[in-house]
Amino acid sequence: MIAIYPGSFDPITLGHLDIIQRGSRLFDQVVVAVLRNPHKAPLFTVQQRLVQIRIATQHLSNVEADSFDGLTVNYAQQRQAQVLLRGLRAISDFEVELQMAHTNKTLSTQIETVFLATSNEYSFLSSSVVKEIARFGGSVDHLVPPHIALDISKCYNHNYPTANLATTAVIPPLQTIPMESPTGTIPEPEV
Ligand code: ADP
Repeated sequence: MIAIYPGSFDPITLGHLDIIQRGSRLFDQVVVAVLRNPHKAPLFTVQQRLVQIRIATQHLSNVEADSFDGLTVNYAQQRQAQVLLRGLRAISDFEVELQMAHTNKTLSTQIETVFLATSNEYSFLSSSVVKEIARFGGSVDHLVPPHIALDISKCYNHNYPTANLATTAVIPPLQTIPMESPTGTIPEPEV
């Protein structure tokens, strides 16, 4: 069974990774799907987030990273997935997630939303919290994988152009992991 784990992942945190890791034990394949949302001003481009996710999940052979736009159920159908995987942290998540799951059910009766409760230690953790801490100079080493902590510190501490991030500039794509670019090179970040 294929599960889609959709979200912004700007950037991916240890909380997301916990859900991905546990999902990868439940499903044959987990597709971490970055939503291309033109209405949000993200810290990292979609391409940078994909590289960050691929590095963070390279030890999980049945996990893939991809991006999509439009309706999540349409993307799920296109990928022949039967499940939308979501994480639940608090009651506030529950209200939004339940509404989204019900809405998606009206769009496709074939696709089920499966919720995994957050592990206790990540119940407070979100991408926004990570960015807020980093913006004020705090360490996020305990909240995100090391390569992402480095990317974040470059954004906030040194005012690096995001195109020069270590993960996107130095590490070549893995041949075994599907990349968006047909040439196999790391695509230029979005402008
Ligand atoms: P969105 O922009 O849709 O909120 P996110 O990338 O923040 O997307 O989150 C994607 C999914 O991961 C959501 O289901 C969210 O509830 C879940 N999630 C985010 N952080 C955590 C966490 N710390 N523990 C468990 N689930 C989480």
